[in-house]
Amino acid sequence: MSTEPIHTNLPDSGGHFGPYGGMFVPETLMTSLQELAAEYETAAKTAAFQDELAAHLRDFAGRPTPLYFAERLTERIGGPKIYLKREDLLHTGAHKINNALGQILLARKMGKKRIIAETGAGQHGVATATVAARFGFDCVIYMGAVDMERQALNVARMRFLGAEVVPVTAGQATLKEAINEAMRDWVTNVRTSHYILGSALGSHPYPMIVRDFQRVIGDETRAQILEKEGRLPDVIVACVGGGSNAIGMFYPFVGDAGVALVGVEAGGEGIVRGKHAARFQGGKLGVLQGTKTWVLADDDGQIELTHSVSAGLDYAAIGPEHSYLRDAGRASYDYATDEEALAAFRILAETEGIIPALESAHAIAWILKRGGEYSSGKLAVVNLSGRGDKDVQQAAQICGI
Ligand SMILES: *Cc1c(COP(=O)(O)O)cnc(C)c1O
Repeated sequence: MSTEPIHTNLPDSGGHFGPYGGMFVPETLMTSLQELAAEYETAAKTAAFQDELAAHLRDFAGRPTPLYFAERLTERIGGPKIYLKREDLLHTGAHKINNALGQILLARKMGKKRIIAETGAGQHGVATATVAARFGFDCVIYMGAVDMERQALNVARMRFLGAEVVPVTAGQATLKEAINEAMRDWVTNVRTSHYILGSALGSHPYPMIVRDFQRVIGDETRAQILEKEGRLPDVIVACVGGGSNAIGMFYPFVGDAGVALVGVEAGGEGIVRGKHAARFQGGKLGVLQGTKTWVLADDDGQIELTHSVSAGLDYAAIGPEHSYLRDAGRASYDYATDEEALAAFRILAETEGIIPALESAHAIAWILKRGGEYSSGKLAVVNLSGRGDKDVQQAAQICGI
């Protein structure tokens, strides 16, 4: 553990979280990213912008989301009192809409007319297509051809919402390649287009902007747990793909040393090269798609194949702020395997009547496995980042239901 005090006012003006983050992009994007950062610092921090965003989050997206006492899950685990933060109840089914709404208001402020985004499982694509429809923007979503097949329902949703969905066939034909194509489009059309990046990843200022638009999760949780229990939780758990739902939940608690923060990565079929997406298990320092952070790469720095049963966690890099929090000893990171996540998916459905997204099921798997180590007087909050409708068909196939 580091002896340095933890800094809560990061990143610095260059986008650094300690040794992580930064701006590793082509020259042509540098000006636009700096413009975006400047616009964000001035416009987005005004009371008028924040009030408008809060109104859309309330009336369009459905905030605040409940902090729900999971009584039967608590009984089953026999440890801490477990609360679920219900991001699954938001419009479009996951926390992604928080960031998409914030960024489209920013795009409008900057006078942009067209929206570009990447998507893996399709949740960020759906959230982006939704806000583009709501605010009358043209919208192009890049998606790996393999993912388009796996997530046909979300492809249809995006098309009904008026977005153009462009298949990407390069490489593994999944998320990483979709981001490359979205970046290429943005380089060409940067004057008219805003790129809505979907996680706390990529070049500065995205990791900061996405965190700030997602911190509403942690801010609400803090007020809600204080109201219900009169004190802060002992442990907070969230799944970590790029890291946006986790950092949004963690950030308002970083200064509270008594609150343990646990991120859960995708352990896939186990920690074997190419079979998982747990960057802190067998990953290394590297640069991927604009940011310096922990990545899954081989000895030559080539990005390795990744695997997870949940498409939303299946990415080779983790958001740079998580790398910082881990070095500082402020957050810890564990993983759940596909099998553990699928078991958790079923257990939450059967004990609480809630079918979680397979991504969120990784966080549930952690509390099922480790929750018993906390005594019954303790309080745990698990971020339920999304609902499982999108995953039901896949899970049914695997489980033979
Ligand atoms: C996209 C997604 C994730 C993973 O993304 P983060 O940026 O790590 O939050 C997790 N849960 C759900 C439901 C998602 O749709």
